[in-house]
Amino acid sequence: MKYPSIYLLTCGIFISGTLMAQAPNPAAQANSNQGLVVTFLGTSGPSMSIERAESGTLIQAGSETLLIDCGRGVPERLVQAGIRGVDKVFLTHLHSDHTQGLPILWMSSWNSRSTKLSLWGPGTGADQPTGTVGLAQALSTAFATNTHIRRDLVEKWPAEKIIIDAHDIEEGVVYQNNGVTVTAFRVKHDPVTPTFGYRVDYAGHSVVVSGDTRPSDNLIQFSRGADVLIHEVFVQGGASLGGQVTGMATGMAAVTGMGTPAIAGPPDSAAGAGHAVAAYHTTPEEAADIFTKVAPKLAVFSHIAPNYVDPTDRTRAAGYKGPLQVAKDLMVITVGDTIVVK
Ligand SMILES: [Zn+2]
Ligand SMILES: [Zn+2]
Repeated sequence: MKYPSIYLLTCGIFISGTLMAQAPNPAAQANSNQGLVVTFLGTSGPSMSIERAESGTLIQAGSETLLIDCGRGVPERLVQAGIRGVDKVFLTHLHSDHTQGLPILWMSSWNSRSTKLSLWGPGTGADQPTGTVGLAQALSTAFATNTHIRRDLVEKWPAEKIIIDAHDIEEGVVYQNNGVTVTAFRVKHDPVTPTFGYRVDYAGHSVVVSGDTRPSDNLIQFSRGADVLIHEVFVQGGASLGGQVTGMATGMAAVTGMGTPAIAGPPDSAAGAGHAVAAYHTTPEEAADIFTKVAPKLAVFSHIAPNYVDPTDRTRAAGYKGPLQVAKDLMVITVGDTIVVK
């Protein structure tokens, strides 16, 4: 992997000209950090990859712990990171690779949460029959037997902690507490609409998570001045990251055209479906333009689709010259006066 000359990868990365000593466990030490700590729990789009869970980004800021999206494997990555008790989840949108870990998180942390599970995300739309509140209601119905047995009859687990406090959100500030502000902004993933990205601000520092989107001027506006911009990417025919190409990944290529060098064909063909999928994501070349316009202190690719490709060379070839990192599961970025990647 190539890195710009102003920062280096050793056991960690320094930028802003200062080498930071590596904490033994940055994620577990979030509360002593003056800025934000970002832990990548899942860095893939839809896949059954062992190396990359589906979308999930944990942001710790002071006493606040916020999870953005909860795809397949994200609850297990939380265990690997040694983080318990997550009770605030922000959904960018309702595709399964951003939501299907939610029932596992909700149920498995019933006793490690100090309170109910709070959930924010998009409401209903023209092609979106179920919003975030509806999703929570459906989960509660689906698991009603389990909830009844464990809450009322055998385990007697606390009733208030199994409640999902769900909110259908609009663009703007959606959460503010203990010096942390979470701002939702509209992005372009239609027909999945509404869809949001999130900006988290704390102690003069900020992290932006794009969610799934094609290039979005609104994202660029809401990312102004951000320390770290985490953006999705969709790569056709990219160089391999050396990761595992799973049966699911191969299957996705067959179904959607993901991973094929060229995508063309009628909408009802596999290649045509791939074209449709590509059309609501962002290419490395488009990301290069976005990163150049925003000029974050560090640009990061996550939600990498397909999960085994490396978007770096195409992003560099398209002209982005700033700091760039391709996320991997359990990578941690601390965002303070310096930015450290481990
Ligand atoms: Zn996705
Ligand atoms: Zn999506």
